[in-house]
Amino acid sequence: MTTNATWGGTVALNLTLHVYCPRCNRSVEIDMTKMPPEGKAIGQTFRCMECGRPGQNIVSHKSANHSYPGSKRPK
Ligand SMILES: [Zn+2]
Repeated sequence: MTTNATWGGTVALNLTLHVYCPRCNRSVEIDMTKMPPEGKAIGQTFRCMECGRPGQNIVSHKSANHSYPGSKRPK
């Protein structure tokens, strides 16, 4: 069963993960292909590189937007 509980599963499901920091109003896309495939994706927290606070995980499906790797959306 494909599940989004692991990094390998989230990649297989074409999900993307962004970490948003409300304090800095910045979001960073996590490259989940660089995560261990068997590692737990649920409950994982990332810290903001600017202020060091835990960010909010935002999971979305790749089909939800029209941006693909290499095509950056204008800010
Ligand atoms: Zn921050």
